[in-house]
Amino acid sequence: MLKSKNTNQTCMLETDLRTALKKKEFILCYQPRIHLDSGKINGVEALIRWEHPEKGGILPLDFIPLAEETGLIIPIGEWVLRTACEQNKEWQKAGIPPMVMAVNLSVRQLYQPNLVERVRFILEETGLAPEYLELEITESIMMNVHDVLPVVKELKRLGIRLSLDDFGTGYSPLHYLKEFPIDSIKIDQSFICNCGVNQKDATIVKAIIAMAHQLKLEVIAEEIEMKEHLIFLQQNLCNMGQGYLFSEPLAPDQLIQQFYQIEQIVHREGLSQEFSR
Ligand code: C2E
Ligand code: MG
Ligand code: MG
Ligand code: MG
Repeated sequence: MLKSKNTNQTCMLETDLRTALKKKEFILCYQPRIHLDSGKINGVEALIRWEHPEKGGILPLDFIPLAEETGLIIPIGEWVLRTACEQNKEWQKAGIPPMVMAVNLSVRQLYQPNLVERVRFILEETGLAPEYLELEITESIMMNVHDVLPVVKELKRLGIRLSLDDFGTGYSPLHYLKEFPIDSIKIDQSFICNCGVNQKDATIVKAIIAMAHQLKLEVIAEEIEMKEHLIFLQQNLCNMGQGYLFSEPLAPDQLIQQFYQIEQIVHREGLSQEFSR
């Protein structure tokens, strides 16, 4: 009984997901990425939301897995990429200081045969310079490094940036670090949220930052919620951060309205200037 109900719900959602693309029910929100030294916004992460006509707002973790399973992640991912690039170009035209647009790439997209061509085409079509696009790749036990490495290298040759998302949670992160031509790593929130209180988390975060810097990679901390996290990360020379302390993911016009207020937060909440490096 319960099983059939679940299956029905899944089918329903899958049909909904198919029509959502056609009916343009997806939107992107943008979470600012802050440079922890200067407090400046130097990037945003595009995060998808589904505005379902009956069910209301649906968060990505409730439909991205199904989109991956059904293959719908390919057209959805392409829509995300195009919309995010268009938005970034629009901001640049409007005179907003240039930012890197980070887009989450699903593992399934890495197996899409024409991914590199599609990314190249979208950059050309939108006129966005490749250095302003970053693709976030998540470590995953499903990801076979040797299968996807040629694609990742080709993506890098387009001149875009690459980052490793949710670093520390995957199966073999050090292997990815060695093999992938990435520019930055994003330390997973599970280490950040306790770094002020748990000595082990603090040690891991420090070690990840030190290792990344030795490898000439930038480090981004995700889900910074508290002033204490910010100060700890600044003390340990983490380059960038995102999180509710600065801002939730915002609609484009909200982001622009709040832009300069968000840039004050590091100065207000973080290490005071005389102690900072
Ligand atoms: P992620 O890439 O690790 O994104 C970070 C998630 O943490 C986002 O959740 C963001 O809203 C949330 N977050 C940011 N700051 C804070 C904070 O201070 N506290 C807390 N509690 N949460 C915070 P969201 O938007 O629900 O996305 C969840 C995941 O779904 C993302 O994790 C990413 O893996 C995936 N995702 C989101 N958008 C896309 C997309 O366009 N394509 C693909 N393939 N995956 C996406
Ligand atoms: Mg991400
Ligand atoms: Mg992440
Ligand atoms: Mg995460």
